[in-house]
Amino acid sequence: MIKPDGVANGHTGAILEDIIKGGFKIIALKYTRLSKEIAGQFYAVHSERPFYTDLVNFMSSGPIVAAILEKDNAVEDFRTLIGATDPSKADAGTIRNKYAKSIDANAIHGSDSDENAQIEGSFFFTAFERF
Ligand code: ATP
Ligand code: MG
Repeated sequence: MIKPDGVANGHTGAILEDIIKGGFKIIALKYTRLSKEIAGQFYAVHSERPFYTDLVNFMSSGPIVAAILEKDNAVEDFRTLIGATDPSKADAGTIRNKYAKSIDANAIHGSDSDENAQIEGSFFFTAFERF
């Protein structure tokens, strides 16, 4: 998911280009905005963390781009492509290094396991929206 800051700062096209050049195939793509309720569900795993309310408010603050991506070793390779959660610690050339400003506004989300990738894909897309 390209987060609200990534979209608002005009990086949607550049980020999608980095993803495609990184060898990922786009299976599904959507431009939408999360309500607070939906953002809260999406990040429910973090509901006990101190930053949860800020995270939910931020993720519902503007439109996002959701995608399902396909590649061998996709979860690990995508996390390499996006870089560390804190952009100041993200390797040069990673998406967060290039396009993110802070740990809250860090431009992009990547699934952390194959299982969560399935769950998160189904959160946004029906079977008729996947190609
Ligand atoms: P994401 O799940 O968005 O891809 P991530 O897996 O790198 O990010 P998580 O630990 O899952 O990191 O945290 C989810 C999001 O919560 C982060 O992307 C970040 O925006 C926010 N976050 C994480 N840790 C902090 C923190 N210490 N302070 C503020 N926000 C945080
Ligand atoms: Mg995460």
